[in-house]
Amino acid sequence: MSLEWLATHSNVTKQKLTDINMVLLLKNFPEKLHICIAHLSLPLQDLITDFVSTTNFSASFTSQQVTQLLAHYQHEHSPQEQLCRDLIPLAQSFSLAPISDFNVGAVAMGISGCIYLGANMEFSGITLAHTVHAEQSVITNAWLSQETQITTLAISAPPCGHCRQFINELDHANDINVLITNESSVPFSSLLPLSFGPSDLGINDRLMASPINNIKLDSDDDLINAAFDGALTSYSPFSQSPSGVAIQTPMGVYVGRYAENCAYNPSLSPLQSALIALHLAGDDLSNITRAVLVESSNSSVSHATTSDNLLSLISDVTAERVHYK
Ligand SMILES: [Zn+2]
Repeated sequence: MSLEWLATHSNVTKQKLTDINMVLLLKNFPEKLHICIAHLSLPLQDLITDFVSTTNFSASFTSQQVTQLLAHYQHEHSPQEQLCRDLIPLAQSFSLAPISDFNVGAVAMGISGCIYLGANMEFSGITLAHTVHAEQSVITNAWLSQETQITTLAISAPPCGHCRQFINELDHANDINVLITNESSVPFSSLLPLSFGPSDLGINDRLMASPINNIKLDSDDDLINAAFDGALTSYSPFSQSPSGVAIQTPMGVYVGRYAENCAYNPSLSPLQSALIALHLAGDDLSNITRAVLVESSNSSVSHATTSDNLLSLISDVTAERVHYK
């Protein structure tokens, strides 16, 4: 789709599209993002282009930015719901789906008033178990931004069973308002009746709202300390195996936290978490120059082998393994 085509078939000027495109190209954001922005109403285009062009944009909007966006929804019955629905295409533009070509986008509003975007990520040449679902992506984006609770979740397609189980690990999961494209909103509790959750295993902690782990590590290496921060704030109440990953690129450092699940298989590894952060920041997976995995030397769960498998597929890097006390 060319700029000329968009200028002819949308209400956006070619100059405006060029401006948006230049901003996004500079930040290495997906090409589709500028097309999605160009299809928003004009006031939203201007605002979102400004927000995206800030140096630290990582597929999220601050509560102040959300307030500015909501000012254009005063005529709506449910302004927050409509804004979240309207942002779904932006989230979808971050999708990496080389296997399915099925682009899933998710938008989450946190209790802080911030809004987060997320999208599915598939990796060709390795087991499908490494696939990141859009709901996992947006929840990770919110959690890494210190959000503690999600109130609204808008998704481009109904959440699969894997994601319903992942969402069920969140604090106040049953109260989340779920919006699926043009369908009426529903409480999450209606999407997972008779559910199995952390409390069935006697666990009171919840994802995004768990205490800091009681672990220690002494290092003067910044990347190791960043990975340790990921382990410190990770969630693993079932295996007691806190772990974190930090990856380095020329653009920056990205930290991932292990997010465990009471049903085990929907758990998200610390490397997947870090790759979500890297991708949503507009960085490229092929830019990774160094990676560190911090975990326990004697826990029942290790991410070393699977991390190496995935990393070897997308980079020439092997994760350095560091054990905490
Ligand atoms: Zn899913």
